[in-house]
Amino acid sequence: MGKNRSRRELEPFIDRARALARPWRVAEGSRFNLSQVDPQDTGPFGSDDKKEAQIALAQGVETLAGMQDRLWAQDRWALLLIFQAMDAAGKDGAIKHVMSGVNPQGCQVTSFKTPSAEELDHDFLWRCQRCLPERGRIGIFNRSYYEEVLVVRVHPEMLARQRLPQALIGPEIWQQRFEDIRGFERCLARNGIVVRKFFLHLSPEEQRRRFLERIDDPAKQWKFSPSDVAERQLWTEYQRAYEDTIRNTATEQAPWHVIPADHKWFTRLVVASVVVEALADLDLHYPTPDEATRAGLAEARALLMREDDSDK
Ligand code: ATP
Ligand code: MG
Repeated sequence: MGKNRSRRELEPFIDRARALARPWRVAEGSRFNLSQVDPQDTGPFGSDDKKEAQIALAQGVETLAGMQDRLWAQDRWALLLIFQAMDAAGKDGAIKHVMSGVNPQGCQVTSFKTPSAEELDHDFLWRCQRCLPERGRIGIFNRSYYEEVLVVRVHPEMLARQRLPQALIGPEIWQQRFEDIRGFERCLARNGIVVRKFFLHLSPEEQRRRFLERIDDPAKQWKFSPSDVAERQLWTEYQRAYEDTIRNTATEQAPWHVIPADHKWFTRLVVASVVVEALADLDLHYPTPDEATRAGLAEARALLMREDDSDK
């Protein structure tokens, strides 16, 4: 399957992506409950169907590459993918696999860590706003401004370090941030930046297994930090914060996808499917040259053909 396949040829892959993405989509959060998603779920696949899912992922990645080429050439829309999860849920691997086929020029990944002193001197959206994708590009946020209603909510001492005027800190601050995030994402949508948000939903048992693997494998030890175990003690608080965040920030324009994360091969396939679906919903096409451009092309062609004649 080449990247220049026509839209009609891509259609069966797009249909499958829609079917794989749909069950995990949360576009209206008021009745959302995290217990509705089982981290071990593998959708239509049995737990032994890993190979089959990997083939589907490879096809999904190729479909995505074909559409990214049009996104880039057309230079109108941008896509912002936001990844949030507990430690070891597989954000990095999902990003790596799903974007493996795309043109690196049209893609940018930004990881957001503990904010610097300079970043804390600004409003909470500032550092992310500076990293938004330009038209024609896919931007990936590995963590994001959502940390401001997740880790900061679980650790109130972080809020105290944010140098906000005292009068602006009260119990309503989380609702206010949700409202600001909804407004921000609505603004992005109205400017042609399509937002898709992922929560990779891991079970505590699987996190424990992955932590132990990181500790015991010399090639993975660098990924482990002892503070990860301390955060794990706050599992319930984090789950509550995630649930409330998704309830308050899931919208039609910027939906969440809550994706089972205990089986990495399934997580990656669903993430790729969501990206394929998001791009398929746009009117992506190669720009059609206007009359003047067509005349220029014909002239250039004639010149090149003449060169060929004179070579003989
Ligand atoms: P991995 O899954 O490989 O551990 P990671 O995304 O957890 O990757 P780390 O360098 O381990 O990367 O951690 C980044 C840390 O920065 C996270 O603990 C996250 O909660 C924290 N962080 C990100 N944004 C903010 C923020 N706005 N305020 C406070 N902490 C933040
Ligand atoms: Mg970490």
